[in-house]
Amino acid sequence: MSEPVPAKLIIAIDGPAGAGKSTIASRLARKLGYVNLESGALYRALALKAIQCDASFDDEAALLELVRKSQMKLEPSLGGNRVLLDGRDVTQRIRDEDVSQAASRVSVHPKIREWMVTRLREFGREGGIVMEGRDIATKVFPNADVKIFLDADPVIRQRRRIQQQSSRGASAEAMAAELRERDRRDRTRQDSPLVPAEGSAILDSTALSEEEVLRRLEELVAEKLKTARLRYA
Ligand code: C5P
Repeated sequence: MSEPVPAKLIIAIDGPAGAGKSTIASRLARKLGYVNLESGALYRALALKAIQCDASFDDEAALLELVRKSQMKLEPSLGGNRVLLDGRDVTQRIRDEDVSQAASRVSVHPKIREWMVTRLREFGREGGIVMEGRDIATKVFPNADVKIFLDADPVIRQRRRIQQQSSRGASAEAMAAELRERDRRDRTRQDSPLVPAEGSAILDSTALSEEEVLRRLEELVAEKLKTARLRYA
């Protein structure tokens, strides 16, 4: 029998905004030679499309029609995901405050979520992926090999978000209020609210450096790889 080859894992990272998911997911993926997928970027692309088309964020049927006829592409790269909407690069634009708020509003609709979950699963078919978002371990990949719920104190998350976005024009108070509102919406929606999945390792990054969080995640992955005699050459 041939030697076992290392399994290509699916790693799911969920958590609220500002917990540090994107940076950590991107660094972890780079270390492992995996692909890093920012699932929120798809919800943001739809939100931008709705803004452009003047569609109501509350109209599920209209949003479903929009999402079906839009072309959304995520291109993973070392620095994060490049996002294309109908062929145009919207990577920067989708990070603006109006899009953040709209994303959390369009994402409450079950049919929109269903569409997104189907798309996101396609990215993970081959394994070798680090995907981050709000429902990755609960809905998209409930059988993910490693599940992490990355959290942090709300004040710290707000501070990090303000640092990230300070060059983008919004005031600190406006950003803090936006984050609180988005948190509330993401945690209380009926369909796929933000909660730790069964079997998730819960990691509070409040008092941890980025290096420490990364090390902890690498340990979890290493533990999994040790026991994962999944595939044979
Ligand atoms: O992660 P990011 O901040 O880019 O996500 C933007 C919004 O998209 C979130 O506030 C949330 O409402 C929604 N989202 C979601 N499920 C995901 C990823 C993002 O509902 N898996």
